[in-house]
Amino acid sequence: MTSYPHIDDIYSRLRTTYNDGITFPLEYRRKQLRQLALLVQENSEELCAVLQADLGKPKLEVILTELLPIVSSCKTAIEKLDEWATPEKPEVLDWRKSFDISIHPVPRGVVLNISPWNYPIVISLNPLVGAIAAGCPAVIKPSEVSANAADALARLLPKYLDPQAYAVVTGAVLETTYLLSLKWDFILFTGGCAIGKIVASAAAKNTTPCALELGGTSPVVVADDADIDLAAKRILWGKKQNSGQLCVSPNHVFIPRHLQDRFVASIRSNYSTYFPSGTVSTPDMSKIINGSHHKRVLNLLASSKGEKILGGGHNEVNIELTVLKDVPADDSLTKEEIFGPILPIVPVESVDEAYDIIRERRAPSPLVTYLFTNQQELREKFLRGVRCGSLVQNDCVQQLGVPELPFGGVGDSGYGAYNGKDSFDMFTHRKSVLNVPSEVEPMLEPRYPPYTPSSLSIFEGMLSAPLPEL
Ligand code: NAD
Repeated sequence: MTSYPHIDDIYSRLRTTYNDGITFPLEYRRKQLRQLALLVQENSEELCAVLQADLGKPKLEVILTELLPIVSSCKTAIEKLDEWATPEKPEVLDWRKSFDISIHPVPRGVVLNISPWNYPIVISLNPLVGAIAAGCPAVIKPSEVSANAADALARLLPKYLDPQAYAVVTGAVLETTYLLSLKWDFILFTGGCAIGKIVASAAAKNTTPCALELGGTSPVVVADDADIDLAAKRILWGKKQNSGQLCVSPNHVFIPRHLQDRFVASIRSNYSTYFPSGTVSTPDMSKIINGSHHKRVLNLLASSKGEKILGGGHNEVNIELTVLKDVPADDSLTKEEIFGPILPIVPVESVDEAYDIIRERRAPSPLVTYLFTNQQELREKFLRGVRCGSLVQNDCVQQLGVPELPFGGVGDSGYGAYNGKDSFDMFTHRKSVLNVPSEVEPMLEPRYPPYTPSSLSIFEGMLSAPLPEL
């Protein structure tokens, strides 16, 4: 394996910082959190420019989906840190009442965050808010694919945050492989499932816990009672975000067959409102990240049996936001994460059929299922029966902007979750602390050898004590 002395230097610097307890005081963490918010506020123009260069991301989307979440996470963490970091004093039951017990939230240690190219600023920095709040030194490894964003992070971070505790390592597979050979105390990986498995295997070799934030084919179900116009407006908005290059992008839409035409009419109407001059050259759409993804998305589109009703064209960097109707349920577009600006509409006989199809495909359990309905019973049915990271009712993508909700997958869409307090928890170890006072010694006597029938009978009595009545 190629070695990287600069990575070794960073690693040992951060380890020393952790061992010396530099990142532990809450005042230090609050200061770093404020600095991180300032980094974003004072460099928002530059961050918008690099995301324009990498992804053609509209400024409004950069502010809404990449910058604001970081600043508001920092504010919340600064305000809530005392509360989050306060040790818990659980109630002690039975004969253990005189034990002195507490649970202390302590930093997990030195952590690594490997991030993807599609939201390169927010996915690098928002988890960092949790790491800083929890008291962990951290290395960020941004994706080499969004190179301008990676360079900006590497340049800006040391100007604002303590370089003894936080660092950016740029690079591609070789550098990441080297990083993964080191022993971290926690690894957060966001990206595709295939690389996620490589990361989890490398973490396992060092008994390092990790969280995997992966992708998947998040389905949308529009029920008979849904407000069709509002559903179309919101689904189209969700799909256009970053030209569909979003882990929680609505992948495909199931709708009862008798509603398909009404839904299509509403999609058409919203499409022309959002994009009066089309979607190829509008500054309101992101571009496709690179040539290989451009080709992949066009191939996927060509393989579909659905009928194109909007879009379908492309230029060298962009692909039109393309909507297809009458897409078969087993079409290639429903089986693969599209990760591009294509919206397939799949007519079904009933919502129950959509439910069955989603359940049958349990294996790639998606990050989210979107359900457009106001029927409480239907919501309960999906809540209980569909395996996915989140269930979102009557909107798309908005869950990312609700820090009170943990964000994470299940099964093939990953494990572990962050956002708000969950970000603090992700990088925190709950350390149990117990003091057994000498006064309880008489109660502990039966545990010591020689084991006599009378001490045995005490424990047998405890074992057979009555269970709570139901
Ligand atoms: P990716 O898996 O290709 O790359 C992610 C990171 O892994 C990058 O930093 C990259 O440098 C590194 N990497 C690549 N090859 C590696 C290797 N062989 N060994 C070690 N590290 C390696 O993912 P991507 O293409 O950047 O992102 C797209 C995927 O990410 C989609 O599936 C999407 O759904 C998912 N995603 C998930 C979330 C989420 O929060 N759940 C968010 C964004 C993207």
